[in-house]
Amino acid sequence: MKDDHDEALLAEIATLLDSSEHAGHPLHDALQRLYRHHCEQRGQMHRLIDISDRYQLLAMEARQVTQQRYERTLRRQRKLSRISDGYQALMHERNKALRQASTHDPLTELPNRRLICERLETLVAEHRAFTLALLDIDHFKRINDHHGHDVGDRVLVALTQALSASLREYDLCARWGGEEFLLLLVDTDRNEASTIVERLRSRLSKVTVRTGQQTISVTVSAGLSQHRPGDPHHLTVKRADQALLKAKRAGRDRILSDSL
Ligand code: GH3
Ligand code: MG
Ligand code: MG
Repeated sequence: MKDDHDEALLAEIATLLDSSEHAGHPLHDALQRLYRHHCEQRGQMHRLIDISDRYQLLAMEARQVTQQRYERTLRRQRKLSRISDGYQALMHERNKALRQASTHDPLTELPNRRLICERLETLVAEHRAFTLALLDIDHFKRINDHHGHDVGDRVLVALTQALSASLREYDLCARWGGEEFLLLLVDTDRNEASTIVERLRSRLSKVTVRTGQQTISVTVSAGLSQHRPGDPHHLTVKRADQALLKAKRAGRDRILSDSL
């Protein structure tokens, strides 16, 4: 609007200056110079505005390009961090599965020999009191021989479930070998352990597994040994094993303690 107004005024002045009617006017020459000077200034101002507009346009385009590049990088980084999170979760799961596989028995899911030995080493190092009970299924070979290995496996699993359900939270039951289990009874002396394991023995003898028309049950023998302060854990295990052997020789289906 203002520019139109200026244009109109300049056109009016140009017409007046060009008209012969005002040629002799005392202000004519001065006004003409002023008019030319103004036109030059105006032209210069327009060129500057033009340069500034173009510069702003370029700056805006550059800003847009930078912004787009930034957003693209951000998207790529988010994608990478999602992938990396996924890998980390996968590694975590794999490590957990590996740890589980290296410390547990796949059939019964009980802790294995390695895990209970680690626990025993810690208890010995901490000078904690504990009693061990080594349990062995009586005549288990006969189960396999008469009913097949799969039924034997089912018996092992059924006994394991009964064992785990009967233990206190801080005790540990591991699969020590084929049909042997090692019970760790923490802060428990021989007498208390004997009562607990006797209860267990009785409970395990009532566990049944059905196969066809038959119902199978088994008995267990156990050897107990109370840990002696200063002994390495394997000596305590060895004494439990010797007591177990005596229980077997004495007729099975019973618990014997190591001699003091
Ligand atoms: P005892 O009363 O003297 O302990 O007799 P036993 O028959 O239980 O002992 P023996 O050592 O002669 O046999 C143990 C059997 O346990 C032999 C083996 O095949 C079986 N066994 C070991 N591990 C497994 C297993 O994971 N599954 C099955 N089904 N059987 C197993
Ligand atoms: Mg055995
Ligand atoms: Mg046996």
